[in-house]
Amino acid sequence: MRIKVLGAAAGGGFPQWNCGCPNCRDLRSGALAAKPLTQECVAVSADDERWILLNASPEIRSQIEDCPALHPRGPRHSPIAAIVLTNGDLDHCLGLLSLRESHPLVICATERVRRGFTEGNVLYRTLQRFPGQVTWRTLEPGKEAEVGGLAVEALPAPGKPPIHLEDGGADPGDNVGLLIHDRRSGKRLAYFSAAAAVTPAMRAAFDRADCVFFDGTFWTSDELIALGLGDKRAEQMAHLPVGGKDGSLRTLAGVRAAKRIYIHINNTNPLLRPGSPEREQALAAGWEIAYDGMEVNL
Ligand SMILES: [Zn+2]
Ligand SMILES: [Zn+2]
Repeated sequence: MRIKVLGAAAGGGFPQWNCGCPNCRDLRSGALAAKPLTQECVAVSADDERWILLNASPEIRSQIEDCPALHPRGPRHSPIAAIVLTNGDLDHCLGLLSLRESHPLVICATERVRRGFTEGNVLYRTLQRFPGQVTWRTLEPGKEAEVGGLAVEALPAPGKPPIHLEDGGADPGDNVGLLIHDRRSGKRLAYFSAAAAVTPAMRAAFDRADCVFFDGTFWTSDELIALGLGDKRAEQMAHLPVGGKDGSLRTLAGVRAAKRIYIHINNTNPLLRPGSPEREQALAAGWEIAYDGMEVNL
């Protein structure tokens, strides 16, 4: 299984257009020896022919262009066999509207996420210009689906609906992780880019996986509050922080997956600062920090 990280940042990217936090400021000025990050999107393939995209970020056009494996191999062609959505947040699905150039799309999502994106959304009509432009495939938690040569199963992860749908209440289908199994090689990927907590089922999946991607949005619970950038704690935004006594570094200590990678990293996170104590702590615990262009071969 080949995994290509097209975008490693949380919503807003790095730097974020309206953000003057120390990380964004120092990246712009050159004081930070780091590279910009686009918003989270990952491509996975079992055969290098067909690729599935995990989430569709607002930067999907440039992300596809930056990844030759995803380029057309004919006058009208795309090796993208399907797009799998893990939740309905705009940084995860807005890119679908950028794929409107009359190309048949297969989109896999929970029923809840499909409805959240399609119902009452007049812009969705751009993906309904001809019959069969979009084929929705429902991800039913606990059931494996064959997608682009890979077996894909959704596992509910503690989360929340997207901000623009919060008044409709919460549902287990709002947010899922993905268990992706390459039956030929036997390799397993567990992909959880947003999770407010680790359930026993998630933990069991991580121990079976060869590679785990996990929510690296915030280092601390009060990261945005402390920087004067917002009034919500990480948990209120459905992200388990990485650091601290209840953070994912400690919660996931001992996970047996050979490769463990933090993704969906917010621009405020000290993990993005080379040499920071927080980054060193994560690396020392055996975690890697995703970046645009990162490749993993299982
Ligand atoms: Zn997000
Ligand atoms: Zn920032």
